[in-house]
Amino acid sequence: MTRPSRVIIDIKALEHNFSRIKELAPHSKVMAIIKADAYGHGIVRVAKTLRDADAFGVACLEEAEQLRQSSIKTPIVLLEGPYKSDDLPSIIKFKLDIVIHNEYQIELLEKAEIKGSINVWLKIDTGMHRLGFPIEKAYAIIDRLSLCKNINLRVLMTHLATANEKKNDLTQQQLEAFKKISEIIDGEKTVANSAALINFPEAHFDWVRPGLMLYGVSPIVGSSGINHGLKSVMTLESEIISIQYLSKGEPVGYGATWRCPENMPVGIIAAGYGDGFPRHAKSGTPILVNNIRCPLIGRASMDMLTIDLRNQSNAKIGDRVVLWGGSLPIEEIASYAETIPYELLCGVHKRLQFVEYN
Ligand SMILES: *Cc1c(COP(=O)(O)O)cnc(C)c1O
Repeated sequence: MTRPSRVIIDIKALEHNFSRIKELAPHSKVMAIIKADAYGHGIVRVAKTLRDADAFGVACLEEAEQLRQSSIKTPIVLLEGPYKSDDLPSIIKFKLDIVIHNEYQIELLEKAEIKGSINVWLKIDTGMHRLGFPIEKAYAIIDRLSLCKNINLRVLMTHLATANEKKNDLTQQQLEAFKKISEIIDGEKTVANSAALINFPEAHFDWVRPGLMLYGVSPIVGSSGINHGLKSVMTLESEIISIQYLSKGEPVGYGATWRCPENMPVGIIAAGYGDGFPRHAKSGTPILVNNIRCPLIGRASMDMLTIDLRNQSNAKIGDRVVLWGGSLPIEEIASYAETIPYELLCGVHKRLQFVEYN
C-alpha cells in the first residue's frame, strides 16, 4: 500500500480566489505570482488553472521554461531579471519579460545583441531596500534603457516592506515616493502584493501581483484566508497508522519531551518534517482527526507525528487526519510553529502524492 500522506489541491478554490482578487481590484490587471512551484501547489497545474491571469510572475528561468514547455502562452515576468548574459538567449526564445533592478543588468542589455525585443519592468527601491534603483537614479537609468536597442520599458514597479500592517509610516512613505515618480514617468505601474491588495486599494495601480492569496491564505497576521473571502487551496492530509495506550508518566517521542498526564491513547500519524510539516510545531498544535481537533504532542519526527487522542476515544487506525487546510487554517499551524504560511507551503515535499480535486 502507498503511504497515506498526500496533498489535495482544490482547483475550484484556486479559481474562486482568482475571481475574489478581480473583485477586490477590479481595475487592475493581475500578475499571478507562481514562483517556488506556485508556493508548493505545482506551477504548471496552477498556471493551467489561471487562464485569465494577465501575466505570471516567476523567480527564475527554470520556472519560466517549465511553463513554456507546458505550452503556457501567457506573458511571464522574471521577477529578478537576468543574472548573467547567458540568460538572455532563453529570455528571448521563451519571450519573457524581465525585471531590471541593478546596473549590472543594464550593462548586460547594453552589450547584448538582442533580436526580437524584450519588455522591461523597472524596479524602483522606495524603501524596502532589497531590489531596485534608488529614486534619484531612476531618470538616468531610464535614459540608458531608452538607448538600448529592442528594449521596451513597459512597467514601473516597487515592492512594499510592511503592507501586511494596516498602519505603518513606511508604507505611506513608500506609496508617496512611488506616486511622485509615477506621475512623471509614463507607462504602467505596479506595487501591490497580496497584503497591499487587501489593505491598500490606493496601491492597486495598473497591475496587482498577488501570490499568497491566490492559494487562499492570508498574508495578514491574526487573520486567515476566510476572513478575506478566500478559500484554502491546499489540504495536507494523512492517516493514523498506530494507536498506543500509555500509562500516566510515560514519555512520547524523541527526547522524551512530553509525558502522559494520565493513562491515555496516543495516535501515530504517517507524516512528519520529511513531508514538510514544521519540526518546530509546538505540543498543542491542532491536528484534525475525523474533523475534530486533537493536540500534537512531543516532537515531530521525519515521517511521524504523535497526537493526544483523549477527546477521540473512537479513533482507529486508518482514520483520516488533516494537518492543514479546510477548517484548519495553515495560518494557525504557522503561528504554532513560529513561522509564516509562505514557508510551510514552499516546504511541502515532492515525495507526497498530489491529488487534484475539482
Ligand atoms: C513574491 C512576490 C509577490 C507576491 O507576494 P505575496 O505576498 O505572496 O502576495 C509580489 N511581488 C513580488 C515582486 C514578489 O517577489
